[in-house]
Parts: sequence; C-alpha cells; structure tokens
Amino acid sequence: MIERSLFSEEHNLFRASARRFVEERIAPFHAEWEKAGQVSREIWAEAGEGGFLCCSVPEEYGGVGADFTFGAIFTEELARVGSTGPAFHLHSEIVAPYITAYGTEEQKRKWLPGLVNGSVITAVAMSEPGAGSDLQNIRTTAIADGDDYVINGQKVFISNGQLADLVVLACKTDPAAGGKGVSLVLVEGDRAGFTRGRNLDKIGYKAQDTSELFFNDVRVPKSNLLGVEGRGFKQLMQQLPQERLVIAVRSATIVETALDWTLDYTKQRKAFGKSISDFQNTQFKLAEVKSQAVMLRVYVDKCIELHLKGDLTAVDAAMAKMQSTEMMCQVLDDCLQLFGGYGYMWEYPIARAWADNRMARIAGGTSEIMKQIISRDILQD
Ligand SMILES: Cc1cc2nc3c(=O)[nH]c(=O)nc-3n(C[C@H](O)[C@H](O)[C@H](O)COP(=O)(O)OP(=O)(O)OC[C@H]3O[C@@H](n4cnc5c(N)ncnc54)[C@H](O)[C@@H]3O)c2cc1C
Repeated sequence: MIERSLFSEEHNLFRASARRFVEERIAPFHAEWEKAGQVSREIWAEAGEGGFLCCSVPEEYGGVGADFTFGAIFTEELARVGSTGPAFHLHSEIVAPYITAYGTEEQKRKWLPGLVNGSVITAVAMSEPGAGSDLQNIRTTAIADGDDYVINGQKVFISNGQLADLVVLACKTDPAAGGKGVSLVLVEGDRAGFTRGRNLDKIGYKAQDTSELFFNDVRVPKSNLLGVEGRGFKQLMQQLPQERLVIAVRSATIVETALDWTLDYTKQRKAFGKSISDFQNTQFKLAEVKSQAVMLRVYVDKCIELHLKGDLTAVDAAMAKMQSTEMMCQVLDDCLQLFGGYGYMWEYPIARAWADNRMARIAGGTSEIMKQIISRDILQD
C-alpha cells in the first residue's frame, strides 16, 4: 500500500474520535433510520457537540477554522460503515462554504454557529422536475417586491428536505436573463408558503430524507440574498469542485471498504471443497480491485493536497468525481458478485452499498456532465 501522507498527529486524533462517534452513535441506529426514512434530529446535535460539523468554519462564527482534511476524514469514517442517512458532508462541505464565502457579516453571525452545533440543519435546492443538469434553465423565481423577494416554484431530489431548517435556494431573480438571472436565496424552513412534499422512495439512501420542496408566494426579506444578485450560477460553479472532491473522497473509501468486506467473505465462504478466494477468478478480481483502490486513493489525496493550496481546478475535480464514482460502482458490482446470493440481501453491507452508491454517478453532476467539462478543456487546448 502506498502510504498516505496528508495527515498530521492532530488529524489522526480527530480520525480516532470520528471513528468512535460513527461506530457508537451512527452505525447501530442506521437500520432504524432506514425504516423511518430519515435520521433523528438528535444525531445532528450530537455530531455538532462532538465537533464533527463544519470544521472549516472560522472561529468568529463558532467553528474551529480547521482545514478541509478534517471534513474529509469525517466523510471517510462515515463511508467506512456505509452510513448514507445523515447528509453531514452536504451541510458541512457544501452549504457552510456557500455561507462563509458569500454571506454578509450578519448572515454569517446569524447562521453559522447553528450549522456548527447542529441546531440548524441545511439543504441546497438546485434541481427541479424540469432541470437538473441544465441548471441555467431552472424555473423557480424570486421576484423583488419592495424589501422582499416573493418566491414561487418547485424543487426535487433535495437531500435533508424534510429536516432542513435553512435552504440555500437556487432561483431566478431575473427570469429573462437566463443563467445570468440565477441567484442564491436563503429560505428558512418555517416561512409561510414553503411546504415539503414527499420524502422520495429511492432504491438506496433509505435513511436520507431526499424530498420535493414547494414554494408558493414565499416572502423573504432581500437581506436573505446570498452573494450577488444574478451571480448565483457562478457562485454555484465556484463551489462545485469541493462538492465533487468530497464525493471522490467518499467513493475512494467505499472502494477500499468493499475490498475488505469481500476479502473476509471470500476467505470464509466454501464451494467445491475450497474457499471462494482459492478460485483464480476471485484472486484476479480482488487483485484488480486492490490496484484500482490504490490508484484512486493516490489521485484523490493529490486532489485534496491541491485543494488545500487553492489549486484544485474544476477539471481536476470533475475527473476525480467521474472516475471515482464509475470505478466505485463497477467495484461494488464485481464484489457483490463474489458474495453470490448473499450479496443481494439487504442485511449484507455490500448489497446496501451497491444500491446506495448508484446515485453517485448522477448526483453532484452526472458522469456525462463531468465528461463534458473534461472534454471541453482538452479540446480547447
Ligand atoms: C439521492 C439524490 C440526492 C440528490 N440531492 C440533491 C440535492 O441535495 N440538491 C439538488 O439540488 N439536487 C440533488 N439531486 C439531484 C441531482 O443533482 C440531479 O439528479 C442531477 O444533477 C441530474 O439531473 P436530472 O436528474 O434532472 O437528470 P437530467 O439532467 O434530466 O439528465 C438525464 C440524463 O441525460 C444526461 N444529460 C443531460 N445533459 C446532457 C448533456 N449535455 N450531454 C450528455 N448527456 C446529458 C444526464 O447525464 C443523464 O444521464 C440529488 C439526486 C439524487 C438521486
């Protein structure tokens, strides 16, 4: 194994406490949350209390101003136990950075401490029934009316949709201006006219409250605008590399974890008087997965290193997202096969991982959109 070189002693201590938290407070409750279709609010407060949320938020807003690696470590530890319910990474590594980067001083003081301690759960609402990849064509509007915006529209597939207290909403403040009319607006969960639709019935991520959201003449003050009017699309694009890197971090860990599960299983499962791991087909498959796991980890760690220096490009992140998720899905399928029928049983982590992680090739920008970003770049050169 190529040794990872990203971590200091402080990172290692953080990992040990994150691992304890995840093993004691997340893993034992996950099946219960899957039945409920969402996680408990309490787990958010516990994660906040443990110092696991929004590690990068600066001290003056309630955080500890830690580097991105801490959030990545927490993401890895959650992935290691197959946790898909609490969308902590979305809250900490996607929403908090929007507010930190574009929020006014007042917005940061008002919201960030709650994000850090877990009392405010967040969501980011971009996708609509008629526009997912094609975000410039969203139809939700926020039209200025005196000191307010009046919001109308519908969102779909929104993670944390049922639990969210605060939504970063992508909407059109100038519907005639295409992509240049997109803005980000903060919408509190208790605003009149804001309703939550179905908690969607998915093939995986069953403990995740991925939902529809409806906005019917929802009034918010103009001070809820996040960043600059009409710059929302650009703001989204600026933050997407970090989102994609987080997905790659998660995927790299799942590939390694699937390998561990499969090594254990194939060594103990017998057929034709041998262990499954004695068959050459199994050995070759495991060798392929091991090599993929190592190569993926080295690239993803390099991306983290670049990101810490502010040098991760949108293309680097798109390659990380596309390759890691495609590889992960292939690996999960190959590993599941080595479990035979047990690999198809929900009680086996490999089955859940296979179903859960299919979404990774779609959410956060589909593989096809990643290819578009990469090919545009090479053809331009
Ligand atoms: C579990 C889950 C959680 C999610 N969480 C969130 C969330 O929290 N917030 C949020 O806003 N969204 C969320 N999403 C939505 C997700 O980001 C979208 O599903 C994704 O961006 C794709 O959009 P779409 O579903 O509308 O597919 P479409 O855009 O309709 O795409 C359909 C197909 O066409 C392909 N395609 C589209 N355009 C092109 C093109 N130009 N060239 C080639 N192929 C193309 C796509 O790659 C895809 O294969 C989530 C989705 C899932 C499944």
